[in-house]
Amino acid sequence: MSASLTDFATADLRTLSAALAARQVSSAELTRAALDRIAAHADLGAFLHVDAEGALQAAQAADAARAAGDTRPLLGVPLAHKDVFVTRTLPATAGSRMLAGYVSPFDATVVARLGSGADDFAGAGMVTVGKTNMDEFAMGSANENSAYGPVRNPWDLAAIPGGSSGGSAAAVAARLVPAATGTDTGGSIRQPAAMCGITGIKPTYGLCSRYGMIAFASSLDQAGPMAQTAWDCAALLTAMTGFDPRDATSVQRAVPDYVAALDQPLPGATAAQPLKGLRIGLPREYFGTGLAADVESAVRDALKTIESLGATLVDVSLPLTELSIPAYYIIAPAEASSNLSRFDAVRFGHRTAQYKALAEMYGKSRAEGFGPEVKRRIMIGAYVLSHGYYDAYYLQAQKIRRLIADDFARAFTQCDVIAGPVSPTVAWNRGDKADPLANYLADIYTLSASLAGLPGMSVPAGFGTGANARRPVGLQLIGPHFAEERLLQVAHQFQQVSDWHRRSPF
Ligand code: GLN
Repeated sequence: MSASLTDFATADLRTLSAALAARQVSSAELTRAALDRIAAHADLGAFLHVDAEGALQAAQAADAARAAGDTRPLLGVPLAHKDVFVTRTLPATAGSRMLAGYVSPFDATVVARLGSGADDFAGAGMVTVGKTNMDEFAMGSANENSAYGPVRNPWDLAAIPGGSSGGSAAAVAARLVPAATGTDTGGSIRQPAAMCGITGIKPTYGLCSRYGMIAFASSLDQAGPMAQTAWDCAALLTAMTGFDPRDATSVQRAVPDYVAALDQPLPGATAAQPLKGLRIGLPREYFGTGLAADVESAVRDALKTIESLGATLVDVSLPLTELSIPAYYIIAPAEASSNLSRFDAVRFGHRTAQYKALAEMYGKSRAEGFGPEVKRRIMIGAYVLSHGYYDAYYLQAQKIRRLIADDFARAFTQCDVIAGPVSPTVAWNRGDKADPLANYLADIYTLSASLAGLPGMSVPAGFGTGANARRPVGLQLIGPHFAEERLLQVAHQFQQVSDWHRRSPF
């Protein structure tokens, strides 16, 4: 059995799922191998907590269940969770000193759905090996804002992995685990997936429960899967999705089988042209100044491939793209300032060692517990919500948000899927964007879909050129609300004729 284990070391989730079902490998073997690789690549900084003992126990339980006839497809496959999801058996710090050592009394719904389930629903039986590093409270685009140190991009250790789900992206790219969860508020699944050369999907707002996801900006936060392929993401998304009465914004909708949907032919499809009849909209604002030439050429090559599969490329316009940055960087901090007020050091979280009065305890605890980017956001948020500025900033931003959603609705009368780059450049070097504004500006292509609540996906589409030859480029696909199946189908078809998603750094 273990003679074939090396074959599975870097295999994708689909392969592992089949190998487990065929008893070619055991969950215990896969889990041990994942733990070994995590230890061997500790220098990446991808993990904040690893639970070797708990993972091996869960793996043995999965093997026993399978031996007893359990055929759940993801049973026993190793998985990592972004440290923003609370877990009963592991700490959840959200990358913050404020939550150092915090262990929740319950599992986030997404954790339970992928793992051992809850009272009112069954889990997929995956094995959680650990929690991944992230920007503090998911605020960032480079994973340089974690209180526990940066994450390195496995393709080039000098490069950032993207953020805020940088640990999850690096862990999957380095083949430490076949799958990881991420969250995306303004790009945090798509952008690190792009920069690490893996596949990730941010579903429609409300599709996956936010219960147990430490909140950043509640009207934008959305969980999603990160893995090697669209097939893998489809399998994970099927398991993650479902109405949750514990989350007031969770959508009530039958859960599609996203894997089965991958092979459902589009209305106009032929065998040679599986995407025939599909209109792909290219927003002119996503291909203008500021887009690096190497990213543009990789994206355009990927679009040619998609065209060769039968899709038609059409020009569309999202005129308010530029305004997504100020709108997002008002709305997200506003919500963050409110959400983060719960960290008062009374019930949980870091408490300062010495204080005389209650107000001093609050102030010192928060001053010590939060990092600089989090403080910046809290201050911006409190400012834009304050009496006298609310109308000038917050209200205006909300109006822009509505107009951005209208732009998309208009574009989707002309096309079925929107495509473009995920990020204007490949991953930059750690330390190169010390100015927070420079980080914010790099979110230009991901923020709009978040503001409109639309699903967005990142698909490996090549590499940069010259000095960037080892820095991956992602193709972004954006769909109408609940068009996850369509996005996954396009990505899956693209991955049948491309092999960027098969490249691994080591
Ligand atoms: N980069 C964006 C920010 O810093 C998005 C982060 C996210 O999606 N969590 O807010």
